[in-house]
Amino acid sequence: MTDPNCIFCKIINKEIPARIEFEDENLLAFHDIAPQAPTHVLVIPKKHIVDLDKTGPEDKALLGEILHRASEIAKSLGLNKDGFRVVNNMGVLGGQTVFHLHFHILGGRQMKWPPG
Ligand code: 5GP
Ligand code: ZN
Repeated sequence: MTDPNCIFCKIINKEIPARIEFEDENLLAFHDIAPQAPTHVLVIPKKHIVDLDKTGPEDKALLGEILHRASEIAKSLGLNKDGFRVVNNMGVLGGQTVFHLHFHILGGRQMKWPPG
């Protein structure tokens, strides 16, 4: 469930501090250390899953919980009024740098398409 070398597992275990926005049995959401928008929150499962590709049918409910929670957090931070973006970067070409599954919630500025 936990990888001792994983920075996000260390945040889950409170070995590294983070500005926590939400926590329950399965999920943790905290503010990104290098925000790419006025609001930038990461939603992660407490279970150590490397990336979206490593999820399986057993993770369907968890993935649903993550997206539902992202929506609730966006609402609680007032991002739902003007809009926001939810992003998952998978693998090297996807731009992933931390290999513990996470979804970014970005809000508070106009997003561009296509993304860089
Ligand atoms: P990725 O590039 O893998 O999609 O996103 C990883 C994100 O984790 C980046 O936006 C990066 O700023 C953030 N991050 C990396 N290390 C830490 C940390 O120690 N604390 C927090 N709060 N965010 C981190
Ligand atoms: Zn981890």
